Amino acid sequence: MRAARFHAPHQPMVLEEVPTPEPGPDEVRVKVAAAGVCGTELHFVEGLYAPASLPTTLGHEAVGTVDAVGAEVADRSPGDRVVVDYYLFCGACRWCLAGRQNLCLRPRGVLAFAADGAFAEYLVVPARCLVTLPDDIPFESAAPLCCAGATSVHALNEADVAHGELVVVLGAGGVGLAAVAEAHRRGATVVAVSRREARRRAATVAGAAAVVDLAGLPTAVARLSGGQGADVVLEMAGVEATMRVATEVLGRRGRLVFVGYSADTLTVSPLAMVVPEQRILTSVGNTLPELAATVALAQAGQLPPVDDVLPLAEVNVALDRLRSGKPVGRLVLAP
Ligand SMILES: [Zn+2]
Ligand SMILES: [Zn+2]
Repeated sequence: MRAARFHAPHQPMVLEEVPTPEPGPDEVRVKVAAAGVCGTELHFVEGLYAPASLPTTLGHEAVGTVDAVGAEVADRSPGDRVVVDYYLFCGACRWCLAGRQNLCLRPRGVLAFAADGAFAEYLVVPARCLVTLPDDIPFESAAPLCCAGATSVHALNEADVAHGELVVVLGAGGVGLAAVAEAHRRGATVVAVSRREARRRAATVAGAAAVVDLAGLPTAVARLSGGQGADVVLEMAGVEATMRVATEVLGRRGRLVFVGYSADTLTVSPLAMVVPEQRILTSVGNTLPELAATVALAQAGQLPPVDDVLPLAEVNVALDRLRSGKPVGRLVLAP
């Protein structure tokens, strides 16, 4: 099969012929129909994170059709349309049994991070790591549900966003725009923060009541909350300046949720947070039921925006476009 192989940071990926993977007893082989290109792929290519081994195949937003099933797989058949949970959880550890597959102690791998990913014609994953994709959701639209969509649903669940609350979304990339749409659907008033004009427009379309730059955030929050501050801040930008403003706009019992990976650090005053009973939370990935919920929301019409669909051979073009910062929605590869 063909796969876009990642050999080293700062080098283009190379389209290569590699052995088609065979499913083990509890696994399925998925013929990849569409694979989203997430900002994380760019971080790998730029050397900010390193995959567990090289060369490898990147891509952790995978949707497609079941192509072959292992001997023990009873609930999937060739031809099934599926969405892949990229965190290949074990299903048996303490955290999997608690329904928190995103914290699995013994994942078989993590697509792109520590297993060959979706920028290939085929992919092998445990059958338990799949969610059925309804016929009426096109593959290209479904790919961003795996990371962008499901990550935003998990973050809003962790924040326990309630109807009528004021939610600030710092950063309007793939996850941020999905979070704006989902917080709006839950009845929150949403303030989105982005510097880029095209993303600000997209945040408005997704349902933000106000879209501002960082400097304008305190005024917008004060205006929309009657001076009480934000109930929830989703911090997805991950730099010191945004994290600091995030703490400043938080109201009583406000929840600050770190979603993105950040290299910067934040110094907080416990006293300043204790008196208004504020909480700092973190959110990583998604659980399997949350991926299923994200697919159900998509079926109801809540789909993350997709800018373009490119052939797998143009993987480096897609990364260059992502690096330019111009795409608003996802770029999707179609192997
Ligand atoms: Zn587990
Ligand atoms: Zn991602």
